[in-house]
Amino acid sequence: MNAPFKPAHSPFGGSVATRVLHCPASVRLVEKVPKNLRRSSAYAERGTACHAAMVRLIDETEDLESLVGKTVDSYTITHDDVENALRPVYAYVDALLDEPGAEFYLEQRVAFPTIAGAFGTADLLVRIGATVHVIDFKFGAGVRVPALYPDGDADVINAQLLFYAAAGRHSLPKFFAAVDEIKLTIVQPTSIEPDAEMESSTVVTTGELDAFVAAYRAACEEALAPAPRLEKGAHCRFCAARPICPAHTAPLLDLAQFAMPTPPRAAADKVTYLQALAAGLDLVDAVKDLRTALHEQAKRALESGDTVPGYALTAGRAERHWREENAAIGALIKLGLARNDVMVEAMRSPKQIELRAKARGLKVPQELIDSHRSGVSLVRCEKARAPVPGRGEIVRSFSAALETFQKGSNHEPDS
Ligand code: SF4
Repeated sequence: MNAPFKPAHSPFGGSVATRVLHCPASVRLVEKVPKNLRRSSAYAERGTACHAAMVRLIDETEDLESLVGKTVDSYTITHDDVENALRPVYAYVDALLDEPGAEFYLEQRVAFPTIAGAFGTADLLVRIGATVHVIDFKFGAGVRVPALYPDGDADVINAQLLFYAAAGRHSLPKFFAAVDEIKLTIVQPTSIEPDAEMESSTVVTTGELDAFVAAYRAACEEALAPAPRLEKGAHCRFCAARPICPAHTAPLLDLAQFAMPTPPRAAADKVTYLQALAAGLDLVDAVKDLRTALHEQAKRALESGDTVPGYALTAGRAERHWREENAAIGALIKLGLARNDVMVEAMRSPKQIELRAKARGLKVPQELIDSHRSGVSLVRCEKARAPVPGRGEIVRSFSAALETFQKGSNHEPDS
């Protein structure tokens, strides 16, 4: 794999569409951050390598086995990357491209209508009959990104997919001519949700695409206007402007004024005390996010040869590996060690095996899997997956149920 894979970026491109729509002010703020510090390191490098690997697989210039150990920029593709991410995604794509009459564009640069300089690179566009599939690969192992997600009372379509669909329709009019259906799909083999489906799809109408073009154009115009909207939210996760963003740095000032909670003297003071705990947690959480952003950019700066006063890169812990695994196993057993002194056999997680099974057209029987939650942890209410009631709440619900039961038992049954 010689040629490094370098996706093109634009200040209004598809990968930033969600952020620009929610926070037009981010465009100018991001531009103030030195260019070499804008990319978030760890995820981006693995994601870039996996995207490059998919291109090689679809172009048939590499196969799954030959990809292991190949380096793209500074990331080396591992056996787990192939088995847990590339094999299942490739199996999905391969099945689609095998459909009779399938035509496709891979890593296709597409220009967005009505906004000069707004373009993006669509991972895969496939046309089968009168359906166009707009597919985006997400190789990050973090938060799950669905094609359609609830936002308040409404269901919202992923803006990045809408961008590629609108830009694809504009840039490739013949490919999109006379389509009946435009299907938007995110293929994400690994995320922090262990049981999440790998693919998530939704269908978009041409009217919805037209509405998106108008909304995105308005957001981009606002971004260049004198006082664009600044709005904090989930879209801040990959925003390079976090270290200089007023919405994120303000908690530092609040933290300086944070009053320590006063221990409650009377039962009535407890509510105030608990409110103070929550306020403290909010501040510390906000500052924690800022710390990550500052840390990431300072590290990237030092890696690219800049000076960050008072900070330096230090060598990480030495990681030791066997030079040649098979040769080492033989030599160690010859030395007098038993096989189980040398080897550990461990079972993979249900999600890892399900992904591998899917890539081979097999289905794991669900009765083999037991699912239970590992204790409880503290999160903000809106992030709670399955809220666990506290003791007070359990007591209140029990009292209410008891009262209802007693009321009910005071009535004579109808005869
Ligand atoms: S960090 Fe969030 S609020 Fe700040 S500029 Fe970026 S997207 Fe906007």
